[in-house]
Amino acid sequence: MYETDEDYHPMLIAGMPAHSDATIEVNNPFTGMLLGRVPQGRPEHARQAFEAAARICPRLTRRERTDILLGTASAIRRDRDRFARLITSETGLCLKDSLHETGRACDVWSFAAHMLIQSDGEVYPSDIGATPHNRRIFSMRTPLAGVISAITPFNHPLNLVSHKLAPAIATNNRVVLKPSERAPLTALALGRILNEQGLPEGMLSILTGAPTPLGDAMFTDPCAELVTFTGSVQVGHHIAERAGYRKLILELGGNDPIIVLEDAEVDRAAYLAVQGATKNSGQRCTAVKRALVVDSVADEFAERALHHMLTLSIGDPSDPSVDIGTVISREAAQLIARRVADAVDAGATLLLGNQPTGASYPPTLLDHVSPTSELVIEETFGPVLPIIRCPNDVDQIIAIANATQFGLSAGVCSNRLDHVTKLIDGLAVGTVNVWEVPGYRTELTPFGGIKQSGLGHKEGVLEAMRSFTQLKTYSLPWS
Ligand code: NAD
Repeated sequence: MYETDEDYHPMLIAGMPAHSDATIEVNNPFTGMLLGRVPQGRPEHARQAFEAAARICPRLTRRERTDILLGTASAIRRDRDRFARLITSETGLCLKDSLHETGRACDVWSFAAHMLIQSDGEVYPSDIGATPHNRRIFSMRTPLAGVISAITPFNHPLNLVSHKLAPAIATNNRVVLKPSERAPLTALALGRILNEQGLPEGMLSILTGAPTPLGDAMFTDPCAELVTFTGSVQVGHHIAERAGYRKLILELGGNDPIIVLEDAEVDRAAYLAVQGATKNSGQRCTAVKRALVVDSVADEFAERALHHMLTLSIGDPSDPSVDIGTVISREAAQLIARRVADAVDAGATLLLGNQPTGASYPPTLLDHVSPTSELVIEETFGPVLPIIRCPNDVDQIIAIANATQFGLSAGVCSNRLDHVTKLIDGLAVGTVNVWEVPGYRTELTPFGGIKQSGLGHKEGVLEAMRSFTQLKTYSLPWS
């Protein structure tokens, strides 16, 4: 029955199609149409996948791994339009955003290939201690003894999956992946590409379905040595409570400010704020979720932000000219609209937007938002730019910026080096970008938050490759 149904996409366990007794639907958030069905994974599928992975011990040479990684980058590049359309139909993100994501994913695969050709060993002298020895100490990195469990969110269904898989393959590890139930088709398409590139069976399994029937199997399996999770704070905590004695990497939510000081070029700052708040329908962990603007320039900032927002088009996400598609679901749009309405009831001024239709939520601008409203205390995952007016005092701005549970990234708009250095020092975040959106990064460089935004090792190809290896030292009796 399954093989003849073209809407049905099986899971992959150790490279082979795998089925379940039930399926879940994947729907297009804009049209509501059925895109496909995937099996509902169950704990026994997780067991099967981890066991299959644990049975093999990949020993691909650096050359073989490089060929797989570069082959995958080329295949994504070749299939860029098809991937982008798949991302757009699963998530409602506009085609411009999806095409951008395919480019980022290509970077991830090719950067991992380039990093692995470098030696990861180091050499240390041993005649430095109180009792000098005529020896030499070496370090080397080896793959993990156990299997990597990777769990990913819906908002970058190709790039965030790539950030787990490429560093894992580059370091000869085995992975069991559970992509978001909202966007599993993109991950399965990537899995098929990896199979075509000759990735050994057992190095990758992809389980699909909603999390509840799968239970805790992804992070309690005895073969799972490291759990790398990207998603919400709530689920991150759930995993941390249950995972027990194993390595944990949690990349969680954000509530990133863009800070606009009195000396800033206001139009440039407003443009960055609008871009940062609305790209990917505002559904990035590092989206601008608050503009902290010094009072004396706030009127001009609001006027320029409104101008830039009015240039954005919202509509059919598959239309290549559209700037903003949908958010992930009608329920998500309703939640955002309710928070905006509550902020307005509490005294904020709505300058644009907040009229959702289904899962389409328009770019929305508010001024005079209280720093304690739910809209800006919680992570509001949509294209909303709330302006919080601040006194002209960097210490007070830092206090407002730091007054949420999150600590991912921040953008700063100022040319005053004294203020900029104080902000870099005082902001409790993982990244500060001056004259850039908080989300600016390359796929190679270290990335990750503090406080509730993240726990454990950072991501970015380089740090992820380090975190997916054991550092072993050995010494030899020759110096
Ligand atoms: P989510 O936490 O709801 O889901 C993420 C993944 O966890 C999905 O695969 C989901 O199926 C799974 N999951 C959910 N409940 C689970 C459970 N009880 N047990 C096991 N797995 C479970 O997040 P989302 O809505 O898909 O994504 C949005 C969130 O991700 C936002 O908070 C965003 O900030 C965050 N995010 C963080 C980063 C980062 O690098 N820090 C990057 C992107 C997104």
